Amino acid sequence: MSEFRTIGILGGGQLGRMLSVAASRLGLRCHIFEPGTAPAGDVAWRLTQAPYEDDSALRIFAESVDVITYEFENVPTSALDLLESIRPIRPNRRALAVSQDRLTEKTFLNQIGLATAPFADVPDPASLEAAVAEIGRPSILKTRRMGYDGKGQVRIEDGPAEWTGAPSVLEGFVDFSAEISVIIARGADGQVSAFDPGLNVHKEGILRTTTVPCGLSAQVTTDAVLIAARIANALDYIGVLGVELFVTENGLIVNEIAPRVHNSGHWTQAGCAVDQFEQHIRAVAGLPLGDGKRHADVVMENLIGADMDRVPDLLVQPRTQVHLYGKGEARPGRKMGHANRITG
Ligand code: ATP
Ligand code: MG
Repeated sequence: MSEFRTIGILGGGQLGRMLSVAASRLGLRCHIFEPGTAPAGDVAWRLTQAPYEDDSALRIFAESVDVITYEFENVPTSALDLLESIRPIRPNRRALAVSQDRLTEKTFLNQIGLATAPFADVPDPASLEAAVAEIGRPSILKTRRMGYDGKGQVRIEDGPAEWTGAPSVLEGFVDFSAEISVIIARGADGQVSAFDPGLNVHKEGILRTTTVPCGLSAQVTTDAVLIAARIANALDYIGVLGVELFVTENGLIVNEIAPRVHNSGHWTQAGCAVDQFEQHIRAVAGLPLGDGKRHADVVMENLIGADMDRVPDLLVQPRTQVHLYGKGEARPGRKMGHANRITG
């Protein structure tokens, strides 16, 4: 059936876990590589726990799989170079390089004709003042690399501007009416399939809920899908790509892209015959994409930290899926699971 039987996944968090489950349903198996704790290891064929600097562990991992994918985009370049000399990496290295670095990412998006927030390169604290003068206030200083869940970001308002501690970009503050995202899959043959755009609500920089349908006009949702397709095609992408967008009076602005399955696509587990995890595995394994058409209205809610106290109640709610990631301690801000509620 598939040219590939065994899929290597870099990163062993909840995304790797759900990818591994999806792969197993298709008769495939996953080998997870994760330096830290690995909830994905519970449901995978094999788990390697080693640092990304361990060449011998990387080599054994790569040789045991047919193709390598990732659920985490901040894998060091040296590890990727070694892995790629042994097995193909999907999505490709360019997709990874573009999305690892906010400066490269925004430059690429502008180059392919897409709007982003205005931005300026801020390599060091000495360049900050000139950047603020150029971009204005309010604005947001973000580290170029390694940010997630709003980490590595400093809001700049009236007071003196704080430094993030690492090379950064300064982004103009976008006055948006809504945040949406498109999860799009592109197969090895170039076939593209987008899930319906979801409406995202963040609190303290962390995604809380995604709602589908997103309630915006057909023009906006079509535009959003076309933007995502343009990005996937420009990157010659294989796999699932998440595209976060701001809805503004002047059209859609791309916030950022993620070269992987995305938290705002978890609703697809309850809303589509083939969800984002299976779509990604199909693409990476060289299988045809499945039917990602939405057949239900869904609200996905992240279970973060103390939200875990609500699990007993959620478990007995009608039309509700509870997904728990098997992580240990429910620390504040930690994503422990999510619930998909079918609303129509
Ligand atoms: P995640 O891991 O959730 O994607 P992240 O750390 O990569 O987060 P961003 O997506 O850049 O961070 O920002 C998190 C949230 O902060 C956005 O979803 C949005 O609500 C807000 N935000 C970020 N940049 C801007 C901006 N330029 N203007 C207005 N709001 C912004
Ligand atoms: Mg984001």
